[in-house]
Amino acid sequence: MLEKIVRVELGNPERRMDNSQIADRLEAFAALLELADANPYTTRAYRRAAETIRGTSVPIAELVASGRVRNLRGIGPSIEARLRELVETGAIAELEELERDLAPDLVGLGRYLGLGAKRSVELARALDVRTAEEFREAAAAGRLRSVPGIGAKTEARLLEALAHEGAPRAQRGLLLNRATDLVGGIARALDGEAAGDVRRWRDSCELLAVVRASSEPSPLLERFAELPQIVAMIERGERRAVGVTVEGVPVELLAPEPRRFGTELVRATGSAVYVAALEPLPEAPDEEAVYRALGLPWCPPELREERFRGEPPPLLELPDVRGDLHSHTTWSDGRASVEEMARAARERGYDYLAICDHSPAVGAVPGLTGEELRRQAAEIAAANEALAPFRVLRGIECDILPDGRLDLPDDVLGELDWVQASVHGGQRMPRAEMTKRVEEALRNPHVRCLSHPKGRYINRRPENALDLDRIFDVALAEGVALEVNGLPDRLDLSGNHVRDALRAGVPIVCSTDAHSVRGLENMALSVATARRGWAMPADVVNTQPLDAILEFRRGR
Ligand SMILES: [Zn+2]
Ligand SMILES: [Zn+2]
Repeated sequence: MLEKIVRVELGNPERRMDNSQIADRLEAFAALLELADANPYTTRAYRRAAETIRGTSVPIAELVASGRVRNLRGIGPSIEARLRELVETGAIAELEELERDLAPDLVGLGRYLGLGAKRSVELARALDVRTAEEFREAAAAGRLRSVPGIGAKTEARLLEALAHEGAPRAQRGLLLNRATDLVGGIARALDGEAAGDVRRWRDSCELLAVVRASSEPSPLLERFAELPQIVAMIERGERRAVGVTVEGVPVELLAPEPRRFGTELVRATGSAVYVAALEPLPEAPDEEAVYRALGLPWCPPELREERFRGEPPPLLELPDVRGDLHSHTTWSDGRASVEEMARAARERGYDYLAICDHSPAVGAVPGLTGEELRRQAAEIAAANEALAPFRVLRGIECDILPDGRLDLPDDVLGELDWVQASVHGGQRMPRAEMTKRVEEALRNPHVRCLSHPKGRYINRRPENALDLDRIFDVALAEGVALEVNGLPDRLDLSGNHVRDALRAGVPIVCSTDAHSVRGLENMALSVATARRGWAMPADVVNTQPLDAILEFRRGR
């Protein structure tokens, strides 16, 4: 089981290990520490050290012997000690111990049941079991209660979770990007279709499912169980199985007969409320045929949150987007330069990109003063010269101070092409105060767009108390747009709030808030979130050409 997660090669103390072997061992160690719920900073430090070692031309064994290994970036005293042990003995004792103790299938099952990795390992040891299957048998035989610390109540809870009635559901939603990677990867491996919450682009995904037509389901279910993403099976029927990842997240595989594929895909895509309103679902080989048989037009999955049997509107599509209006560079907390970001945006087929680095009040990361913004202007001008007719816009993500003033003076803001206004600190302000603060900022004539209006971090920080209805009124009067931020842990406005904004007549902007070249890919998440709010191309500012962007608001 373990070899699914880490490749383990026994070190040979006789022969000196080369840098890539040493890096492999450090990475294996990091993977196991992660499995053991170790501090994420520690695991990251080991991964970084492995990367450094791989990129070093001098043999690490020599550097260790001569005591110079700490001159390398990211190698401190504790990693040095591990390296010394590895070079001198050919092994890391703690690594071997972890390899003995941690069965990923047990850890995955334990996490699914709500137990931490350490607790699962303790339980397994006390029960003297080594696999998820043995754990299940021990539980069924009533042995859980023999373990110190497990009372009748805990036993009952674990048994109930194991018996697992109804649809499998993750205990805590996965962020959309993580869920998409997981379900998409499994769907690709099995040549199936991603369904469940992922297909509806829900911001936090609990129901993860893959549907694959099969007249011969048994080998398919076998392949599913063998996938590297799946560490243990928690249910297995003739045409359905539920596997669990090492994080304890359940994933359902449905293997209907080909003539019922469409039916099962509609059902597995959900939402439950939407599907219930279509029942009884006719049997059909594909989704279009299901809708035809129902006498209904096909419905995009993003609109399947509530009962709906009507004609869907022509929703916004990714290719409608002509530029990204919120991105960061190395001038603040981004990882790429102005030109690198701009080139990547041009490669995506955009006409423009707004560079909106932070202003000083953001605090935790570097922010730009007026002076620095003017120096950045030179770099932007150079990029524009190199990339014309593509246009890099001079922008800012300007903090809204607690009293509603903006963090930079009007003469500085007035020079810019695009001003995003953002609340970063003080998200817990009471409703009236917060609303007044943001209203004040929207009245500044230079502000074009309100960033991540509700300030939420999905599953981590609730929405702020901002009175959106009031903000819609002010935004409409002032000609300000509201952002649909595409960062996977933000997706803010949410789909529901997009719908409210559009009903109020307020335009939206689909942005990525990219902090790297890769971050620009999150436009797909922003667009999907806007679609969940029933957005059409005309509702979205950045479906318009450059001229219109430059005139946006100025033309009021
Ligand atoms: Zn921000
Ligand atoms: Zn930002």
